[in-house]
Amino acid sequence: MKIHFPNSIVEIDLSAITKNLVSIKEKSGGKKILAVVKCDAYSHDAVRVSAHIEEFVDYLAVANVDEAIELRLRGIKKPILVLGVPTYKNAAAFQTHNLTATVSHQTHFSILMDGTSYQINFDTGMGRLGFKPEQAQEVRQLAVANQRLSCSGIYSHYATADDPGSEFVQTQHRRFKKVLEHFKEVPLIHMSNTGAVANYPKIDHFDMIRTGLGMLGYNPGETRHDWLKPVLTWKSTIAQVRPIKKGEVVSYSSTWTCPEDGFMATLPVGYGDGIPRSLSNKLQVRFGNKMYPQVGNVTMDYIMVYLGQDQVRTDQHGILMGKDSWTAHDWADHGKTNVHEIMTNIQKRVYREFIGSS
Ligand SMILES: *Cc1c(COP(=O)(O)O)cnc(C)c1O
Repeated sequence: MKIHFPNSIVEIDLSAITKNLVSIKEKSGGKKILAVVKCDAYSHDAVRVSAHIEEFVDYLAVANVDEAIELRLRGIKKPILVLGVPTYKNAAAFQTHNLTATVSHQTHFSILMDGTSYQINFDTGMGRLGFKPEQAQEVRQLAVANQRLSCSGIYSHYATADDPGSEFVQTQHRRFKKVLEHFKEVPLIHMSNTGAVANYPKIDHFDMIRTGLGMLGYNPGETRHDWLKPVLTWKSTIAQVRPIKKGEVVSYSSTWTCPEDGFMATLPVGYGDGIPRSLSNKLQVRFGNKMYPQVGNVTMDYIMVYLGQDQVRTDQHGILMGKDSWTAHDWADHGKTNVHEIMTNIQKRVYREFIGSS
């Protein structure tokens, strides 16, 4: 659906993405960069983000073949690594659209078509996809036997890098290094995500780092890093400002009672746009220089904000998320989830506006 009259807007500062990438590259010790733009670049618009950063990064990665095809059809030329698994159905698409496959299982060697580029995924402790470290010798033989395919890299994925000081990060790193002894001639080795770069400055990041959340200005996990700058600002228009009397109740299940006569703003944005209902009576919204409480249950299409004695102009925007308001970190903390989920929840109904592009 095309949005003609946006109720709420996410403003995406493309120049902030580039700045974050510069900082991340520096923190990683100048490694190559793979930008993870899966799930529509965590709702930041994968095509626009990829086009903007294409010159700066070495690789792009997406979760599945459809996401990769979308980027190719929209003119993105960088190598694209598909993190998901190849199947008989999608194998030809890797060739047609010049995509790099991930080989996570023996069968993938036979599924892929002649000449397809692939990278090998080892599961060193994530417990999701990939070969086990004990299979290293066997996988090497499969790679050697399948010269019809072209091996362009090898990678693994940390399970606990969001948390600084995790012993398991060291364990996974050691396991991967042992695997690598069998793959001396593979040209590209990578393992670190944003968490590993931000929280583990001393660890060897091999040849390339993979960043999704970091380039969007957030560190995953509890630790916040002020050298990362949030890229997205979520603003909403006001549907109505109305007087409210002491004792009046607001929204479904009447969970909030007005403490004092004052004013109430109704904003046309709700859980149908991606505001978790679990943030009901917790979220703070900024008007001008002041934060105001969102009150009552979040509804599908609206939230209510109590203004006390203040009157705001109905042509003002309320800032729901951003560097000068509640950040996505605050949303995640209060909503008992992670920043990744907060971002991917932002729906298509919210209008995307891009600033900072040349
Ligand atoms: C999503 C993903 C990443 C990016 O993680 P961030 O925390 O956003 O940096 C990196 N590698 C793999 C395999 C992923 O699935």
